[in-house]
Amino acid sequence: MRTLIRDVRVFDGEQTTTRTDVLIDGDRIAEPDGRPADVLVDGTGRTLLPGLIDAHTHTFDGNLAQALEFGVTTELDMFCLPANLSRQRALAAERDDVADIRSSGVLATAPGGHPSQLMSALGDALGDAAGPFDTVATADQAAAFVAARRAEGADYLKVVVDDGTVHGADLPVLAPEVVAALVEAAHAAGLAVIAHAITAAEVEIALDAGVDGLAHVWVDAGPGTADLAERVAAQGVFVVSTLVYFEVISGQAGADHALPGSGTGAVRVASALRAAGVPLLAGTDSTPFAPIHGESLHRELVLLTEAGLTPEEALAAATSVPARHFGLSDRGRVAPGLRADLVLVDGDPTHDITATRSIVDVWRRGVRQSR
Ligand SMILES: [Zn+2]
Repeated sequence: MRTLIRDVRVFDGEQTTTRTDVLIDGDRIAEPDGRPADVLVDGTGRTLLPGLIDAHTHTFDGNLAQALEFGVTTELDMFCLPANLSRQRALAAERDDVADIRSSGVLATAPGGHPSQLMSALGDALGDAAGPFDTVATADQAAAFVAARRAEGADYLKVVVDDGTVHGADLPVLAPEVVAALVEAAHAAGLAVIAHAITAAEVEIALDAGVDGLAHVWVDAGPGTADLAERVAAQGVFVVSTLVYFEVISGQAGADHALPGSGTGAVRVASALRAAGVPLLAGTDSTPFAPIHGESLHRELVLLTEAGLTPEEALAAATSVPARHFGLSDRGRVAPGLRADLVLVDGDPTHDITATRSIVDVWRRGVRQSR
């Protein structure tokens, strides 16, 4: 099957070409060769984007299909129990009407640490996707914990440094030497490490340990924000934004979410990270509840522009930048030879970011989704 998209504006993941043709040949993007195509798509007034990548999700049954409807062709899951993970992986491998997935598998946290409280609260709603999971109490358990994640097929390690303050709770947390031991064990096993740390003090612990990325911005913006952002940049650490997650939790009243200013704090921190030159990756922390899979990534892109990213920078944060930092060399750009994971929208999101919601077509592995 050959599909030719004609006269279309293309944001290729890094830059924009105003009017060109793009050929989809089977499951790949190809150079137009002048031979006839089976399907012609009119690109006039439209923009072709690489399939979107959400760099922070929690993926349960139904979520990969939901994500693809909104143009998200790859989800980077940040905590998945083994039975659920093998189910989602099988789905993504067998079907073209769901998003693809990469995952940390079980995250590393202290016994009783975040997010154990959420897993027990949500247990009934999540079935076998919730339940007890491995934790780490001491540094000498780090290597065995990492080996178990590798055996489960984890693509990277997620480590939680969160004492519960932002959630209005007081939770057990990994000691700094345990975080450092986990990073050392993961790197020895060839896994990158992404830390959940949501205050400046927690981010310092993660940076001391030598993590590769942060799964969130921190939310307690203050006088030290610019200096900490410089340190993140100097260590070559990337940051997944999740501004929509902080917007959602700061909008919820109640003791569970004790930091009402966290939404605006998060935007200010993202702004400082951008100024420091830190690679920002768009992520939502979407769950089966809120933020919503797929849909919320479009809100994240708007919030990134409120943090000072240009529309093109925001689009890169959801395409080429996460692909580069997660080693997904087959996607994230519109270029010959790459997977035909593509989104066609009406209008020009390189000038008006809200146009990403005006989806006309989505292709995953070259398969056009019925809309
Ligand atoms: Zn999360």
